[in-house]
Amino acid sequence: MQNLISDPVSMTSCRQEAYLLRLRRQFPFVYVKTLTRTAFGRSVYALQFGSGSRKILITAGHHANETITSDAVWQWLFAFCNALMDGGAVCGASARELYHNAMVYLVPLVNPDGADLAAGVCALESPEYRAAASIAARYPDIPFPSGWKANLRGVDLNLNYPARWEAARRIKKAQGVSTPAPRDFAGFSPLDQPETAALAAFTRCIHPDMMLALHTQGSVIYPGPDETAPPGSHALARAFSEASGYPIEPVPPESANAGFKDWFLQVFKRPAFTIEAGLGENPLPASQLPEITRAFSAIFTAAMQW
Ligand SMILES: [Zn+2]
Repeated sequence: MQNLISDPVSMTSCRQEAYLLRLRRQFPFVYVKTLTRTAFGRSVYALQFGSGSRKILITAGHHANETITSDAVWQWLFAFCNALMDGGAVCGASARELYHNAMVYLVPLVNPDGADLAAGVCALESPEYRAAASIAARYPDIPFPSGWKANLRGVDLNLNYPARWEAARRIKKAQGVSTPAPRDFAGFSPLDQPETAALAAFTRCIHPDMMLALHTQGSVIYPGPDETAPPGSHALARAFSEASGYPIEPVPPESANAGFKDWFLQVFKRPAFTIEAGLGENPLPASQLPEITRAFSAIFTAAMQW
């Protein structure tokens, strides 16, 4: 198991099951809940730990070829739990103090179907691979499967939320995408996918005080649009930027529709941030995992001190 953790390849649903097994054995105080099963039968999990009253929701892996962020979340979680057990520190802060200050909800891999496809572990003769390949054939300019962002029904999950969803659909249609595709298809209606419906329902249940949406790439932090920024957003963004070294940038208006963060800001009016980790072309190489884990660790620590 140790090898599997320290020798990362692309994140897969199978790797996540191995991480869960290790978590249950070593750190049973982390509560694990299955949010839903995907169209092709993979589980989407939420993890919960902490004893504080500030609720922080962290989501990773909406996009199939950005799941290095999912692995980084798991690496951080194990490092944090180890520090907690040993009475140690994370980014200079006592793990126990962080634990008592916050309640953390993690959804480390929102799109396990897409993750397996992009990682190249779906069997070539399987119905799911063939369905994806026939969608991809209409988009010869997008590398397959490494350029795949959607779930295996060809829906871009981060365009499937009911927050200016019609605008997202219109913009993407004007760019040539109006049916299932490797990326940029918003779905036939908002929340028509099990992954997004379950995450939205779960989020309404827990009512988080803050949300972090993890993506690649750019090494940059996007708060909500200035005009809708909830109280505290600017100070938090500055704290995350100082901790991680990632600069803060304004969100391009054409990219502020139908995403999970857009929906969260609209419904809860509480601070929410997109973190675009790492640099290069997606999928980022595993060699960036330590750096991305470092940046997340710094940001999560600042969030738990909030
Ligand atoms: Zn993304």
